[in-house]
Amino acid sequence: MNAEIIAVGSELLLGQIANTNAQFISEQLAELGVNVYYHTTVGDNTERLEQAIATAEGRADLLIFTGGLGPTKDDLTKETIARTLGTHLTMDKAALESIKKYFEVTNLSMTPNNEKQALILDGSSPLKNEHGMAPGMFMKKDTKAYMLLPGPPSEMKPMFSKYGKKAILAILNRKETIHSRVLRFFGIGEAQLETELEAIIDKQTNPTIAPLASEGEVTLRLTAKHESKEVAEALLDKLEAEIMNIVGDYFYGYSQASLIEVGFKLLKEKGLTLSCAESLTGGLFQGQLTSLSGASDILNGGVVCYQDDIKEKVLQVKKSTLKNYSAVSEQCAVELAENVRDLFHSDVGISFTGVAGPGDHNGKPAGTVWIGLSVKQQPTKTFLLNLGGGRNDNRMRTAKYGWHYLIKELKD
Ligand code: ATP
Ligand code: MG
Repeated sequence: MNAEIIAVGSELLLGQIANTNAQFISEQLAELGVNVYYHTTVGDNTERLEQAIATAEGRADLLIFTGGLGPTKDDLTKETIARTLGTHLTMDKAALESIKKYFEVTNLSMTPNNEKQALILDGSSPLKNEHGMAPGMFMKKDTKAYMLLPGPPSEMKPMFSKYGKKAILAILNRKETIHSRVLRFFGIGEAQLETELEAIIDKQTNPTIAPLASEGEVTLRLTAKHESKEVAEALLDKLEAEIMNIVGDYFYGYSQASLIEVGFKLLKEKGLTLSCAESLTGGLFQGQLTSLSGASDILNGGVVCYQDDIKEKVLQVKKSTLKNYSAVSEQCAVELAENVRDLFHSDVGISFTGVAGPGDHNGKPAGTVWIGLSVKQQPTKTFLLNLGGGRNDNRMRTAKYGWHYLIKELKD
């Protein structure tokens, strides 16, 4: 079975909003093993929508629409589909009741066009909208299936996840189920990861391997199909072990967990407190840490030590270090990490000092960064980065590398 996603809305064509609905639905369909060959976007215009439907019917089995289910004149998705399918719209009592209830509860007055939202395609099953008024719809006609979803992502996503997926699985009538596992890597580029795993990726059919790169990280989605969940999981375990043998050094976590969350969890599990000396990152690292609830168990505090005299006066970096090696040096990173750990009585001290850019600084190119990591009762470690990106890219990646090295240190 293959699907086409048809997003309806002139605001999409005008560039006022991005078509995130198509992205979400595609991602979900990939997990179900349904191929998506086309994304179509069409404005709020009956003729062009009719054309889009005809084209999609010629090349897809499942047509998924988003948008245009609301009460206003420009919302014409279901009316247009009813016409092309030669069916009509009927009032769905349950939907009408829930709309009436909504107006009662909110003390707003209901206008006749709100009733229009409870109209559904004759012969379709309504998909309940638990976060808004317009119900979605699912309908089979001849060899094709049609799903209509509301435009607002806050309504569309839960509707699809809770009811839409089930409807699709029912028509797939598939015995085997799909099991996915996402492995996350940092410190290795997508191209390098693919090259290292080339032999495995090429021979792999079940599970399949799909790499995806984003913001300095790479993920691999492993997808296994099998009737038995246990067998599928065993297939995933085996493949994961093969992958880890080769690129395990760069692996940091599963699924949606970010580097920050993984590092945070490790610090918490080990009962370690942290303090930070941040020069080029200007508080970014601590900002990321404090975005997670429970940060107060871990973060004692830190210093944004942008100027040399702050490094010297607040964090006791030796005058001679700054003079002989400059602030962007291994020596300075060591003193910053050790001294910030002492100053705040923490178990771990981490420091970031470097050239954010653009342009060189004292003969060091933009993207030259030293990270210092001081863990109590252990020799301080340092890491040199040569990032060579734009200013903010360098700062972001520096913070990510900080988490990466911290995770490696705590795992070993
Ligand atoms: P409403 O009842 O709010 O009118 P609707 O089902 O009629 O919902 P639209 O009017 O087409 O949907 O869109 C409503 C809003 O939903 C848009 O202004 C936009 O914010 C969001 N939206 C619509 N389509 C998309 C899309 N493809 N991707 C992301 N957001 C979308
Ligand atoms: Mg609308």
